[in-house]
Formats: sequence, structure tokens, C-alpha cells
Amino acid sequence: MPSLAKTKSKSLKTKKVALKNGHKNGHKNGIKVSASLSGKTAVLKKAGKVAKRTFFFGGGKAEGTKEMKNLLGGKGANLAEMANIGLPVPPGFTITTEVCTEFYEGGKKLPKALGDDIRAQIARMEKVVGAKFGDPKNPLLVSVRSGARASMPGMMDTILNLGLNDKTAEGLAAKSGNERFAYDSYRRFVAMYGDVVLGLKPEKKEDHDPFDEILAAKKKARGVKLDSDLPADALKELVGEFKAEIKKRLGMDFPNDPYAQLEGAIKAVFQSWRNDRADLYRRLNNIPVEWGTAVNVQAMVFGNKGADSATGVCFTRDPASGENVFYGEFLVNAQGEDVVAGIRTPEKIEALGNVLPKAYKQLLDIRKKLEKHYKEMQDIEFTIENGTLYMLQCRNGKRTGFAGVRIAVEMVDEKLISKEEALRRVEPEALNQLLRPVFLPAAKKQAIEGGRLLAKGLPAGPGAATGKVVFFADEAEALAAKGETNLILCRHETSPEDIRGMNASLGFMTAFGGMTSHAALVARQMGKVCIVGCDALSFDYHARTMTVTTAQGEVVVKEGDWISIDGFAGEVINGRVDTTPSEVIRVLIEKNLDAKEAPVYQRYAKLMSWADAARRLRVRANADQPDQSEAAVAFGAEGIGLCRTEHMFFGEGKIGPMREMIVAENETDRRAALAKLLPLQREDFHGIFKAMAGRPVTIRTLDPPLHEFLPHDEAGVKDLARSTGKSVEEIHARIEELKESNPMLGHRGCRLGITYPEITEMQARAIFEAAVDLASEGEKVFPEIMIPLVGTKKELDLQADVVRKTAAAVFAEKGKKVAYTVGTMIEVPRAAMTAGEIAQTAEFFSFGTNDLTQTTYGLSRDDVPRVLASYLQHDIYTVDPFVSVDRKGVGGLMKMAVAAGRAEKPKLKIGICGEHGGDPSSVEFCHEIGLDYVSCSPYRLPIARLAAAQAALKAT
Ligand code: ADP
Ligand code: MG
Ligand code: MG
Repeated sequence: MPSLAKTKSKSLKTKKVALKNGHKNGHKNGIKVSASLSGKTAVLKKAGKVAKRTFFFGGGKAEGTKEMKNLLGGKGANLAEMANIGLPVPPGFTITTEVCTEFYEGGKKLPKALGDDIRAQIARMEKVVGAKFGDPKNPLLVSVRSGARASMPGMMDTILNLGLNDKTAEGLAAKSGNERFAYDSYRRFVAMYGDVVLGLKPEKKEDHDPFDEILAAKKKARGVKLDSDLPADALKELVGEFKAEIKKRLGMDFPNDPYAQLEGAIKAVFQSWRNDRADLYRRLNNIPVEWGTAVNVQAMVFGNKGADSATGVCFTRDPASGENVFYGEFLVNAQGEDVVAGIRTPEKIEALGNVLPKAYKQLLDIRKKLEKHYKEMQDIEFTIENGTLYMLQCRNGKRTGFAGVRIAVEMVDEKLISKEEALRRVEPEALNQLLRPVFLPAAKKQAIEGGRLLAKGLPAGPGAATGKVVFFADEAEALAAKGETNLILCRHETSPEDIRGMNASLGFMTAFGGMTSHAALVARQMGKVCIVGCDALSFDYHARTMTVTTAQGEVVVKEGDWISIDGFAGEVINGRVDTTPSEVIRVLIEKNLDAKEAPVYQRYAKLMSWADAARRLRVRANADQPDQSEAAVAFGAEGIGLCRTEHMFFGEGKIGPMREMIVAENETDRRAALAKLLPLQREDFHGIFKAMAGRPVTIRTLDPPLHEFLPHDEAGVKDLARSTGKSVEEIHARIEELKESNPMLGHRGCRLGITYPEITEMQARAIFEAAVDLASEGEKVFPEIMIPLVGTKKELDLQADVVRKTAAAVFAEKGKKVAYTVGTMIEVPRAAMTAGEIAQTAEFFSFGTNDLTQTTYGLSRDDVPRVLASYLQHDIYTVDPFVSVDRKGVGGLMKMAVAAGRAEKPKLKIGICGEHGGDPSSVEFCHEIGLDYVSCSPYRLPIARLAAAQAALKAT
């Protein structure tokens, strides 16, 4: 599964764009064909030969193999492979993806020489099957199937039963002694060919498929419910009516000549590579248009020959849970897509054992054989003709995150694959699914079917939460204090001062903001369920309501009403939906489930232990509270890479003195306020150090612009006036004075500590007092003090000096020392450019890639949503640079800084603490450039551990 959260947001946006521009872009890209053709052709061409255009399979062997996906497409390569390993595959041949390229290069014409190839291959098929293409007595029928390199299920078109006309249909009926079967095949063929090749589609989007309408009318006239209940003569009538409809609507006769049919069908498959559906799918899945599709022409086998015939689709393991059980469905007396199309309700695959026991047993053997051969869970398509089983397709099956982990781990236990292979196979983002609470599936289904879906937004914090709506963070906090545990904070947007209310809520939802907005970032750090950018919702804070217009009309949600948010899917649902916490959380965090009774947890733990053995990068967490630190350790943190001290100032009793400190107009007043903060901050550090038990803790000195801490309403101003003995006017004046044009680029970071060294001094004192106290109690502590936003060596010198002097003073007072280091963030380009100089003072570097990205691009993280959609559409960005490190620009600066820093200090410890630290692609980059560790939100640690292992495995 792709990274749920991320891909979703991108795909939502790209989807619209792709639909709009699909046609235009299609043309532009379609003609030009590139060097992405397989090496094989190049070799053949060099040797002066013409590239082989068709590859035969069947009769127990094949010219292709599963390795030839680029040339034969996934379906063709696997049909060849199945034939090679002795599975019953109807014979056929694959026309290569390169011919698709030739087709488009030649102005949508098939290459001349292909005709002879096709005739020769058909002749081989005729031999194996013992029937002749177009023979009125004993006709060979074929299917024409598309098959791209990457599987694009259902995106392109397939034509079945090709080769039928009035004469061959009669012959088929006579030879099989089954008229009903012959005309069932014929009517299917005419409808499919009419649709796919001749292009007879519904005229308006409200219209039904014209062939379906005729079929429905026929069933009504004959008084039957199911297609399979229509008798032969009715099916024969349908053939005539279908052809008449084609004549009426398109003014053309249905082609009778099998070779003309075949040519039309092959062209149609090539053209379907560029239909809107396929274009959209390719864009969403990053499949280049240049790849082209192969075409498979294969002898038909018939699942519609009566009660001893059937067709079905299966997975070799359950794709939802990953359980090692055969999972699938089948229909008796049916063909092709009937199973998926829901024409009749299919039966569970186990039931096949009762209906066709021999074929079922054979299918079970094939299931085993395929898994043993591919060493992967397979998705298979089969057909049974008069009791004989045929394999029509296999490919690696798509699966949920749960299933991905389970299958990988169990296949190692079964000795099918190595631990390394298991690590490679699990999509890191998929681990999210194992941590999040889930809605009880039946409950959610019921809610959505009941019309309770309110809106969709970006899934920023996966999981499921159901609770009462609260619109204000402070009220959420107050309610939580009274024991209310089910709260969903709903806001237009959130800000740092909401942090405690956010923590008090199960989840939160915003109308504004993207995947890297404040709410999204906090959600990941806290492991909360979160949906952002839900712009269908409008807030009226005064009325304490939010309103949304749905299909059911306007819905007004009031404070205290229940809503449910699904952070996997980005869905906001009205009312309650029951949830359950994940096993992993219950074992590791809530500690109310025994690991022995938690199979999901056990598999998770196993995979993580393999990842830990494979990775070189260390992992740390961004955490600033003792409970977050405990969670971090439970998730495998080997230290804290970023403790943001500013969040601490919003705690109980802290914001008051903080505000007093900010409005102070001289050092004496400031110190008085700071003295009140000192014990509170010391207590925070004490808790964090204790939780981290000797692991390194990187603490960043105060970073955000001061006005973020100031009161935003009159009541707050009055409180502050009272506590400082100033007038309300004076407070207002001071707030005015602190306003900045560009706070992000203003008086923040180390600039605060340089203008007010006493702030840094207080923070350093709190850190060292806590550290020494703990050391005296025999606990291990290792603080690393990190100075933010440094751009010149001198800035770091001054701040490091304050820290070191304070440390010395505390150690002298307490008569005890602890080891510590002082380092810096590298988060503005100038720091990266002068990293060598800075490393003379710095004992470590930590890349603050959020700010480094902002300052390198000159684009603020909070404003990126405005440009993101069009920048992605124009391929200016391939991904949001605030999600995945931009390797060229930002990454280039990082590489320079690593090189210069280590030239100065060869063992310089270097890490990353931006949000990128939990992004798999960025983790890989950090591995490549030789960082020592990545630091990310606690709940992303499993992802980082796995991504780090994958990076190490890739490098070897
Ligand atoms: P898709 O890529 O959309 O799955 P396929 O090419 O697999 O399309 O064809 C869809 C279905 O058509 C198959 O699952 C199978 O049931 C049926 N089909 C295709 N080729 C044959 C064949 N040679 N004989 C019988 N059925 C076939
Ligand atoms: Mg298929
Ligand atoms: Mg920063």
C-alpha cells in the first residue's frame, strides 16, 4: 500500500488535474518514445536483426519468462512463467510493449511485418488446441488482453471469444453440442467488441450501456432474472439485436472476418493504453506513458459451458488480514469479468470443493506451487471448462498494511523468504496501520450507508476517533480535566497555543491547512487522529457550530454533538462510530494487553527487531514531554533528537510568567519572571531525562518569535496587566512593539538568546540542575544543548558561552558534574555554507530541514498549500518538499555541510530533526549522505526504523 496519508493527498489533487488535462498531456507524451525500452531490443537491433515482436507460450513451454515484464508486460511475462513451470495455461502469444511504441510512432498503425508474425503464432496455437481460427466446423476462439509492465487492474480493455461470426458460432454449437454456450459466447463477443473496438458507448453519462439495456429488456421479456437463465434462442436473438444497434448507431456492419476482428482488437488494446481511465491511473501511480502495453492473444477456455464449468479470482492469502488462507470467489457457468462485475453473487472459493472437487484440489496445489515459485502472495484468475482447470493470470497481490506485515513475517517463518527480503517488501508507511485505532468495520459501513458522511479532507493523522465536538482548545482542556475523554477538536486551523487542548482530544480536524500544517505536525508527534484541509466545513465560532452541505442537504454540527473522523481515509462522519485501539498500542503504550496474546504485536516486534539488526542509522524522537518520551522509547527511540522547549511554556502555570518575561522592559523584570519559570522548566527536563534513562536528549533553546506567546484576547491582556502591575494600555503597546512583519524570518531562534542571554541562561540552568539532581540519584543523563537558527559562527560562540558558563556555575554549586555537549541546528543556508567554521565550536549538527527547506526555497511551510497543487501539476515539484527532502537543493546544502563539518571534526555527530526524519525517502537520503541518526515524531519511529533498514539493504 502506498503511504496512505501522503499519496492520498497528492492523488486527490492530481486526480482533478489529470482528468482535465488527460487528453492534452496524452498527445504530448504519446508520440515521443524514449530510451526506456528494454536492453534486449537494443542488443537485437545492434546485431542488425529486427526485434522479435511476438513471444509464444503454451503446450508446457514459453519463449518468455517472468523476468521479461518490461517487454511482455506483467500479464504476458507471468503467463509465460506459468507455462514454463508446467501449469495449465491456454496457449497464446504476447505482442511486445515495443510494438505499442511502434504503433504510436507510426500514427496508430500496426507495423507491416506484424501480420506475418501473427499468422505464424496463430498457426502454433491451432496446433496445440486442435482447432482452426475462422474454421466454420471447428473454430479456434481467442481472447485479446492488454498487459502493461505494472499491473493496472481493470484499467484497459479485454475482448473475449474473438473469431465468432454466424458461421463459426453455428460450428461451435454443433461441435460442443451446446447451443446455449455458443450463443452466450457470441453475444458476449459482439457486445465487448462493439464497446471496446467499435466504440459504442452510452451517449450521456446518465445513460446505461446500450448492450446492457438490450440485455435487460430481453431478460424482462423472457421473465428471467439472471443472464445464465436465458435460453439459447434468446441469446441468439441478442446477437442480432446487438448488431442491429451497432448498425443503427454507428452505421456499420459488424466485421465477420476473424483476422479483421483480430486486427481491430489489437489496435483497440494499444489505444486503450491512452484512454482517460488509464491516463489517470498512470498519473496517480507514476507510470510513464512511454512504457506502452503489451497485447496477449490467447486461446479461449470456457467457463460458460454449463454446470461443470466456472470462472474465478483468488488470492493465495487473505489480502486484508494476511492470514495464510486461500481467499477468493467463483461463479459456475460464467465467463470473464462476471465475478467482479457482480452480475450474480459469487460463491466463496471453499465451496468449489463441493461443486467441482477435482478442479478445486488442483487449484489448491497450484496455490502452493505458485507461492513456492514466486515466494510472494499471488492474485490469480482461473477458469474451469468441463471440469478441467486453466490458469489465466497471476501477479503479486495488492494488500493492506496489516496483511503486508503478516505475510512478510510469516513467509520468513515458513522459510520462503529471508529476513532481508521481508524488510524490503513492507512499505514503511504501512506500519501506520498497525498503530492506529480502527473503526469496527461494520459500524463504519453502516454509518456511510446511512448517509452520515459529512466531508472529506486530507488524512494527516491515521486512525479512527469518535467523540464530542469541541471548538476551543482551552475548553477541550477543561473538559478533559473533568474526565471527558472523547473529544474531537474542530477548528478552522490550530496554533501552538492550542497544543494542550489538542493533547486533551482524541483527534482534531481543521478546515484549513495541508499535510505539514501545525495540526498535521502535532498529530504525528502525538499520534493523534487528524484530518486537515477539510474545506467543505465552515465554522461559526460564535454560534459554536460548523456547517456542511451534503447530498442530504445542509448539516449543522453543534458543540457537544458526536462526530467520527477516519484519519486513514480523511472522512468525517456524523455521529458515533465504535472504535478499538490497536494491539501494538495496547501492548507498548497502554500496557493493558499481554504481548503473548497479541499476534499483530508479535509480528510487528519481529519485523522491528530485524530492521534494527539491518540498519546503520540510529533513530531518535522529537518529544518534549515525559509521556511522549516514554512512548518514544517504547517505539524504539535511541534518544531525543529534538526537545522543543517552547511547547513547555504553555503548560499549567507557565504561560503567565512567560508572558511577564516577554513584556518585561528591563533585565531585572525579565530575570524575575524567568526565576518563576526556572523550577517549572527544571521539572519538565527532570521528567524527560528520567524517561530517557541515559539516552542522549537534544534540547533546543527557545526558538519561536515571542509574540506567539502573547495573549490573543482582552481577558488575557487584563490578566497580564494585573500580574505585571502594568496598565492595559501598556500591555497593548508592548504587544504592538513586538509585532514583526515576517516573524518566521525575524526575532527568533538564537537571535532571542543573543538579545536576551538571560533566557538561554535560565534554560541552561534548568537543564543542568535537573541533570545533576538525577545524576546524584544515580540516574544516567546525557543532555545535548542545541542552538537554533545559527547562521554565523559568532552567534553559536556567544550562546555556547552562556551555556558553558551556566553549566560550570551549576556544577560548582552542586559539587557534581555531568557530561554534555553544545551543538547547533543547520537550518539556514548560511549555516550550511559556513559549516566548517561553525563546526569549530559545534559538537554536533542537527539539520532542521523544515526551516532549511523554507529558507532555501524562500517559501514558507504554512503557505506551500497555495502553490502545491499547480507546482505538482507542472512537475515543478515532484513531491511536497516539506514532506520529502529535496535532494538537489536542500540535500545539496546538507551534503556540503556534512563534508565541511567532518573536515573540521571527523567524528562530528550529525542528525536530522525536521519532519523529514520520519519520511522514508528522506531517511534513505540521510543514510546515503552519512548522517548518524534521524529524529522524528514518536509514532513515526517504526517507519523510520524500517526505512533505515531498507536504505542499508539497498546500499549493500
Ligand atoms: P484484466 O487485466 O482487466 O484483469 P484480463 O485480460 O485478465 O483483464 O481479462 C479479464 C478476464 O477475462 C479474465 O479474468 C478471464 O476471466 C477472462 N479471460 C481472459 N482471457 C481468457 C481466455 N483465454 N479464456 C477464458 N477467459 C479469459
Ligand atoms: Mg485479469
Ligand atoms: Mg527551525
